[in-house]
Amino acid sequence: MSKIERYNYEEAYNESAKMREKIEGGAADYNEAEKLVEKERAGEISGTNNEIKDNHHVQADRILNSEKVPFSREIYLEDGTPEPDHLDQQRQQKIIKYFKEKEGCQNTIEWKEFFNKIDFSLLREIFNEVALSYEVPKEKVNFIGPEGILSHEGAYTNSVYMQEYNLIQLGNPNYTNDHKYLLWADEEKRGDLVCKLNETFGSIDIFRLKQLVHEQVHAVSKNIGRGFVEKNSKSGGGYFLYKQSGFWRVSDRRDEFKSPVYSEGYDIFPLLNEAVVEKLAREIVLKYLESSNWPKVEVAIYKNTLNHHPEKLGGYADQVSLIDSIIKKISSKSNVAEEDIWNFFKKGLFEGEKFEDPDKIKLFKETFGSEFLKQLAYLQHPMFTVSEYQLGEFKEEFNL
Ligand SMILES: [Zn+2]
Repeated sequence: MSKIERYNYEEAYNESAKMREKIEGGAADYNEAEKLVEKERAGEISGTNNEIKDNHHVQADRILNSEKVPFSREIYLEDGTPEPDHLDQQRQQKIIKYFKEKEGCQNTIEWKEFFNKIDFSLLREIFNEVALSYEVPKEKVNFIGPEGILSHEGAYTNSVYMQEYNLIQLGNPNYTNDHKYLLWADEEKRGDLVCKLNETFGSIDIFRLKQLVHEQVHAVSKNIGRGFVEKNSKSGGGYFLYKQSGFWRVSDRRDEFKSPVYSEGYDIFPLLNEAVVEKLAREIVLKYLESSNWPKVEVAIYKNTLNHHPEKLGGYADQVSLIDSIIKKISSKSNVAEEDIWNFFKKGLFEGEKFEDPDKIKLFKETFGSEFLKQLAYLQHPMFTVSEYQLGEFKEEFNL
């Protein structure tokens, strides 16, 4: 197994020193300083690379960073100008059409039955309330109703929020939990799983609710997409050149996120993002169960598991326990209440926190040392097999 790739700290330090020099020398902001450093380097190294593309990125980043717009979903063209709304809708409709043709319907009978039991307007209200506490007004909350949800019988997918098309795709609960072995399990084993879900979640419907809420949290997070590239003209499938969802940022450029804090990367904070999303989803599920007329016995079972055996709730249990440890440690070191630290993370989802504010960096540095954010940024999405190893090593290194 590969170890976590180590950053070149000396290089990162030199980079940071150069940037400081530019800012002290009158550069307006971080981006301008970066541009100056890049130009300087281009002079040193012969044969500059793709100047036009670099300009596009710098220009686009400047627009994206100009202010924190309280809007949970923003889509831009490649040059950073806002994409006309109808393009986003066209993309969504094309995928829905393709999906229906392929699967025969938009949702499975089980999910449709589940949607009938769910009070979507209550769920929406709860999401609006949470978002408002982080200054996102309700008309800007990207809550997705049943019309934007797809599901199918297939055992080959987990649930996912598809940022490119603003759609949620739900998996089949009979397969998703412990799917590594259940994928090929016989009827009896699947039956066991349903029993297990009833025991831990209270009912399979609560398990479904948590899946739905988890993906909704991704949807209402700060989502930015820039430069959609269609890869399949039949389905309309494709990707963004740059995308951000909550803390997670991905770019087509391997050196997009140059920063003295988290060094170089093109896919950063995916694991932190899932941890915060799942922890918040668990809270929202409880809020919904308690504010609706859900059977009290089932609610009690879910609440008991949440409070006493959260590891049994599966799906990102290790990641939630990681964020819990991080919160505890920072709190005890800084004397800030755990609730306030947790609030910082929740707010980060809605604002698209980038860890560029020196005060925030300090908070992590003082508790865990200067390498913590870099390593955290680099922890990969738990879907990939090396992550368990990475996460274990990370926990060991920072005593979490
Ligand atoms: Zn997720």
